[in-house]
Amino acid sequence: MKPHIALKPVITPQPDYVQVRDLRRLFDVSRPWLNRVIERQPRQYLRAVDHVSFSVAKGETLAIVGESGSGKSTVARMVVGLMPPSDGKVTIAGISMTDPRQAAERRQLRRRIQMIFQDPYASMNPRWRVDRIVSEPIRAFGLLSGEREIQARVGELLTLVGLHPDDGKRYPHAFSGGQRQRIAIARALASEAEFLVADEPTSALDVSVQAQILNLMRDLQDRLGLTYLFISHNLAVVRHMANRIGVMYLGRIVEIGGGRELFTAPKHPYTRMLLDAVPDLAHVGRQRVPVQGEIPNPINPPSGCTFHPRCPFANDRCKAEVPAFRDGVACHAVEEGRLMPGGVAAVV
Ligand code: SF4
Repeated sequence: MKPHIALKPVITPQPDYVQVRDLRRLFDVSRPWLNRVIERQPRQYLRAVDHVSFSVAKGETLAIVGESGSGKSTVARMVVGLMPPSDGKVTIAGISMTDPRQAAERRQLRRRIQMIFQDPYASMNPRWRVDRIVSEPIRAFGLLSGEREIQARVGELLTLVGLHPDDGKRYPHAFSGGQRQRIAIARALASEAEFLVADEPTSALDVSVQAQILNLMRDLQDRLGLTYLFISHNLAVVRHMANRIGVMYLGRIVEIGGGRELFTAPKHPYTRMLLDAVPDLAHVGRQRVPVQGEIPNPINPPSGCTFHPRCPFANDRCKAEVPAFRDGVACHAVEEGRLMPGGVAAVV
């Protein structure tokens, strides 16, 4: 499968800006105590995120992709500190997001980390005019004091995201979904953020508007040197955004690699399945294969490799043993040489 539009290159190695190590998040989904006692049931836990590790270099975009229920949004929330991890470490710009001894440094860091959500309208006060929404972080962090300077900065930010400074006088309901996402980006930049975590920022938008928002985000990254963690269920969306892509399945990263490498020579069978479902204008006439099967219940996941019920390359070892993550992929078939990168099965 060849890319038909230039993909973003892998950023040359430099000190990692974001480091995530062995991140885990369990949710207690047990029935009430009395039911458990009467029915002699043990406690039940849902493993939403299980030993996830990755890093993001400064100025890079790492996309995390997976179906609904794969745990990608939970990872995003733990990275920005909206949800505490059950275990593991997150370090941003050398400051731990979990270590209580670095609470003071973390407070300083928070201004530089912002999140963009799928539904920007839900995160805006509908009774506030846009200029108040965008200026809120400037006031909260005391970045500017004079009202005239604040209004000038708000106008500058609205222009930066492709709106008019006069749009600040209107209310959020007067804007389209794409324009509201632009307002959300302006608000994120108002605190002089350098790391943006975007959780499905375009999935509620029309395809043409999606492209405009993605282009805006790429343009802002080039101009301001922003670092992105981009969460999406759609590989086609992250294709032109990401330097590197991590594929998540049932709480684990199963493959991670450069965007070009992942699209041209995918290793993991799940990545291949997702790629087969992506429309490709360079291969018009190629039959698209819909994603097969459904993600299993995470409360009672399959044994061994959790992908084995859906995998055409599964064998007995896959059903019994969790594959180790080696050379950017966690798959027995790749490790045993039964499956070559790019979709050629040596032995099935
Ligand atoms: Fe398929 Fe086995 Fe690889 Fe899992 S470990 S993806 S079941 S071949």
